[in-house]
Amino acid sequence: MKREAYRSLRNISREEPLGPGGSLCAGCGGLLALRLFHKALGENVIFVNAAGCFSLLALFPFTPLRSSWLYTAMACAPAGAQGIRDALDILRERGKLAPAADRKVVVVTGDGAAQDIGLQSTMAAIHRGLDFYYFCYDNEAYANTGFQTSASTPYGSRTATAPITPAFPLGVVQQRRDLFEIWRVQKPPYVATVSAADPLDLSEKVYRASKLSGPKLFIALSPCPPGWEAEPEKSVELARLAVETGIWPLKEAVYGQVSHTKVPRRFKPVEEYLASQGRFRHLFEPKRNDEAIARIQAAVEKYWKAVSDAVAPQEPLSNEAVG
Ligand code: SF4
Repeated sequence: MKREAYRSLRNISREEPLGPGGSLCAGCGGLLALRLFHKALGENVIFVNAAGCFSLLALFPFTPLRSSWLYTAMACAPAGAQGIRDALDILRERGKLAPAADRKVVVVTGDGAAQDIGLQSTMAAIHRGLDFYYFCYDNEAYANTGFQTSASTPYGSRTATAPITPAFPLGVVQQRRDLFEIWRVQKPPYVATVSAADPLDLSEKVYRASKLSGPKLFIALSPCPPGWEAEPEKSVELARLAVETGIWPLKEAVYGQVSHTKVPRRFKPVEEYLASQGRFRHLFEPKRNDEAIARIQAAVEKYWKAVSDAVAPQEPLSNEAVG
């Protein structure tokens, strides 16, 4: 991706759209990504928040955000976004809202709402071509209710609903559902994965998306210290390791055409990423599970081989791939 607007960190705004002292967990990777996302979007944003961890971000009458915040149930954030977009369009038609004062409408959800509970209303919004942004902080579980398995939870990880037992020594055994692909096959204007550890890539993608009208998805891998069982100060490092190991490919799709925006010159072994998190501890202790680790590594390599062969991966990067 040729960067047009964000060539150095100096290009990132020093304005803080999101104040400190909120009630989310220390080291929340999703919040780091949202902060960068908001900086790149600029002012005049209305967030529509599906119930989840980030519902604790803005608790009436207090908010750390400079933007507006509408709280909805998990299933219906895109419907809320439609209502706001319609209201803004009516105001503009009536000359009561100047084009320069128009607002960007942004749905903010976790992966639970994005992948499961809110998928129906999201699909309908994409089908209608709603002009909105959709920011998913993907912590790979239902984190705010105690870290239960979601459709985004990786294979081989432990969650509250997939504990390690003699019958299920791997924890989660299902294939991960790929939100990027679910959106991409419908060929919306813009779909991207981002990382809080790569602010330039993230910010440039917001800039590129801002030139397109219609549904625009951003999926931010969001290290979650309590759920991933990692120290809060390790969140950025984990987000970076996910990219460096190839587990979290940074990519975009413009009207369905995929390109990878950052390909590591040399991939680190996936076990560096896995071993850094307590949710994968059973793959290493009390006895190392070489077969499971090798399976995860092989799937990542298969994915990137397809990319290097310049063939669009036929299979999404599933749990089999991301471990
Ligand atoms: S539980 Fe995880 S995703 Fe939720 S606020 Fe805490 S760190 Fe963030």
